[in-house]
Amino acid sequence: MTNIVLFGPPGAGKGTQADILKKTYNLIHLSTGDMFRYNIKNKTDLGQLAQSYTDNGKLVPDEVTIKMLNAEVDKHLPCNGFIFDGFPRTEAQAQSLDQLMTKKSTQIDAMIALEVDDEVLVKRLLERGKTSGRPDDANENVIRNRIKVYYDETAILKSYYQKKDKYYGVDGVGSIDEITTRISKVIDDL
Ligand code: AMP
Repeated sequence: MTNIVLFGPPGAGKGTQADILKKTYNLIHLSTGDMFRYNIKNKTDLGQLAQSYTDNGKLVPDEVTIKMLNAEVDKHLPCNGFIFDGFPRTEAQAQSLDQLMTKKSTQIDAMIALEVDDEVLVKRLLERGKTSGRPDDANENVIRNRIKVYYDETAILKSYYQKKDKYYGVDGVGSIDEITTRISKVIDDL
C-alpha cells in the first residue's frame, strides 16, 4: 500500500490535489472535513456534535475524530492505499494513525506538505467562500482563526514526521498542474 498524509494550512489546496492524485495512483481519498460536513448536512448525532467546532474553526475533539477516521479506513480495506487530507491535525491523531497503520500491517509513507503564505490563504478561502457554501469560509475572522489553530495545534506535526524522515515540503503556489507535478515527483520517488 501507499499511504500519504497531505498536509498544509486551510486553503493550501489539499482537497483539490487529493482529487487528482487519487485517480493517478488509485488511492482512497479520506477527508475528515468532508466527513464532518456530510454528517452536519445529514443532521446525524456526530454532525450535531461537530458543528459547534467546525462553525468556529476549532478542532473537533480527538476521540471523536479518531473513531470516525478509523471506521472509514476499515470501510475501504483492502485497497491500494490512502490519501489522508485534513488528518492528522494533532499529535494524538498522528500517533493513533501510526497505530492503525501498524494494525493493518502497513505504514504512512510520506507527509507531503503544501506550503502557502497566510495572506494568499485568506484570499483563496474568501474567494472559495463565494461558492463553497461553507460557513467557515464565509467569515474572515473564522478563516484567520482556522489558520491560527493550524499554527498553534497542527504545524507541530511537521517535526513529528521529520523525525521519521517522512516530511516532504512542496511549494503550494502556482497552477494546479504545476503543484500536482511537484507532489507526483515526491510520490514517484518514494
Ligand atoms: P477542513 O475541511 O479540513 O478544513 O476541515 C473543516 C473543519 O472540520 C475544521 O476546521 C475542523 O473544525 C474540523 N476538522 C476536520 N478535520 C479535523 C481533524 N483531523 N481534527 C479535528 N477537527 C477536524
